[in-house]
Amino acid sequence: MRRVSVLGATGSIGQNTLDLIARAPEDYDVVALTGASNIAQLAKDAIALKADIAVTADDHRLEDLRAALGGSGVAAGAGAAAVAEAAARPADWTMSAIVGAAGLAPGMAALAQGGTLALANKESLVCAGPLVMETARQHGTRILPVDSEHSAIFQALIGEEMAAVERIIITASGGAFRDWPLERLAEATLDQASSHPNWDMGQRITIDSASMFNKAMEVIETHEFFGVDPLGIEVIVHPQSMVHALVGFKDGALMAHVGPADMRHAIGFALHHPDRQHLPVERLDLAAIGRFDFSTPDERRWPALRLARETMQSGGMMGAVFNAAKETALDGFIAGQITFVQMADVVEDTLTGFDASAGLIADTMTLDNVLQIDHLARKAARDAIHKRAG
Ligand code: NAD
Ligand code: MG
Repeated sequence: MRRVSVLGATGSIGQNTLDLIARAPEDYDVVALTGASNIAQLAKDAIALKADIAVTADDHRLEDLRAALGGSGVAAGAGAAAVAEAAARPADWTMSAIVGAAGLAPGMAALAQGGTLALANKESLVCAGPLVMETARQHGTRILPVDSEHSAIFQALIGEEMAAVERIIITASGGAFRDWPLERLAEATLDQASSHPNWDMGQRITIDSASMFNKAMEVIETHEFFGVDPLGIEVIVHPQSMVHALVGFKDGALMAHVGPADMRHAIGFALHHPDRQHLPVERLDLAAIGRFDFSTPDERRWPALRLARETMQSGGMMGAVFNAAKETALDGFIAGQITFVQMADVVEDTLTGFDASAGLIADTMTLDNVLQIDHLARKAARDAIHKRAG
């Protein structure tokens, strides 16, 4: 039996992870499940999977969670510290699937307890890539990427030397507004931005796909996780979302990873690694699909890609500024304070306001100073939003 924990169990990735675990409950000993506002789902899953503990990030909901768990014997916890404590409980495999920078500290706690970390929370690598990777090295912990592109790259690299890699290409569907006239983007509504043509995901990453901020984050994630030079990372628009990424080798070969748009593949790969096991995902019928299309992303439509390159050029802790500004701009769009296109303006203003050479940004990276920068950058981004909101 493998001891497993799922952080962000009630979300899109979390539920897909539990779906795989629930298909073979005899193989897993569930340690901790965490969630936030969806107490009923959290309690239901924790009881069904006989978890040791269920934790909500919301510190006002402890009594609700206790009531929902009833006499099941599952322990309850609440608050950010309780989430990190649950993540620190010994487990062989932990899924990091909290959304946003809130996933950083729990993911670090999971790494420090020594099991494998399946990493869906890309924000951890964007905010604090060097720190996360160094923590894994220090504790001899393995990180397995769960983002579909990064799982694809990881799989294409099995048995290869990084020295033989010339470039990495990650694909982008183009999201909800791929074919919209540029001048209409300013009118894009929250509802329109929240529906993805190919993937069924949480609302935040779905909007980030429409703005390409998701892909911008994934470029930084590729740089941090695989140690590839930013100049060697390319983004290509591929509307079918079936080729997830390609690795280009110095002999000219491109190894592509092809599969359906179903996160249970990447999750299942990380769950069973180094084995491959049967997974309940669609088998592609290439003749029925007929064709794969590719095109260069238009950076007037998607300025996020340029902002990611500038962030990597600045280095230091600018990734934490980028992520915090992006999360805050997204909050502003969801709250109706700024338009869809103004999200990139807010991020750009925030990045410009932080000088990469300033002490804080160039400081040695620790969890504390990453969180401090995150806090300052959110404040700067809120100011940039208020300036626009009038
Ligand atoms: P989601 O919004 O569906 O779920 C988020 C989870 O995080 C929920 O369990 C929620 O309760 C929890 N959560 C929210 N705020 C929290 C907080 N402050 N503290 C602790 N827990 C909190 O998100 P998702 O789409 O499942 O995405 C999760 C992560 O995986 C994100 O980092 C996302 O970028 C990444 N990812 C998602 C997909 C996908 O298909 N959904 C694909 C690739 C990567
Ligand atoms: Mg992805």
